[in-house]
Amino acid sequence: MVKENIEKIRENIKKAAEKSGRSPEDITLLAVTKTVDFGPMEEAKECGVLSFGENRVQELIRKKPHFEGIDWHLIGHLQTNKVKQVVGNASLIHSVDSLRLAKEIDKHSKELGIITDILAEVNMAGEESKFGLKPAETEEFIKEAAALGNICIKGLMTVAPFTENPEDNRIYFRRLRELLIDINSKNIDNVNMSVLSMGMTGDYEVAIEEGATIVRVGTGIFGERNYNK
Ligand SMILES: *Cc1c(COP(=O)(O)O)cnc(C)c1O
Repeated sequence: MVKENIEKIRENIKKAAEKSGRSPEDITLLAVTKTVDFGPMEEAKECGVLSFGENRVQELIRKKPHFEGIDWHLIGHLQTNKVKQVVGNASLIHSVDSLRLAKEIDKHSKELGIITDILAEVNMAGEESKFGLKPAETEEFIKEAAALGNICIKGLMTVAPFTENPEDNRIYFRRLRELLIDINSKNIDNVNMSVLSMGMTGDYEVAIEEGATIVRVGTGIFGERNYNK
């Protein structure tokens, strides 16, 4: 089933890319593997999906040694006390939403002598229940974070509201892209963002039409999650 799902999603990615005059190769399908067992994850890998996203640091650390040649992304909320474990283990941290967190990532990256790629998470719809910077405070955050020597801000990420109609989220995806372009135009030292992590199972096609370069798809690949295992 995983194989068929991935084939269908790739077809949809291609269609959405072409519809908006983009190249499908510019879009990374990130398989969101939270709660997913090794078997289906292995299947995804066999289909050539080589980027896995986890929400929780512990789960990422536990699963990582079982897979070779996979790029691991942390996409869920990160607490400062978990930073030490994730630095060096994730190729991209999508969920950086405070200077305090950015500083902590920078500090541990420095200790390891590495530069950690991050995205700034922005709460585009202003939902109370969600993490993320306010759009209006994002530029200031990026200015300050860009001065840290051991992180590299690659772009922006958002988790759009849950909705039945993906068109409802188009505005948030469009605004995230506009925010990225706007901040890039400010000529902040070390800032040239190109990554837009936006779109999930319910709305990745709309997100691609609005410029997503990474779509984070869980349910669409692996089916409904079972959190009670
Ligand atoms: C779980 C999760 C996803 C994937 O959601 P689906 O609707 O299953 O595709 C994407 N992004 C984040 C941050 C998540 O926590």
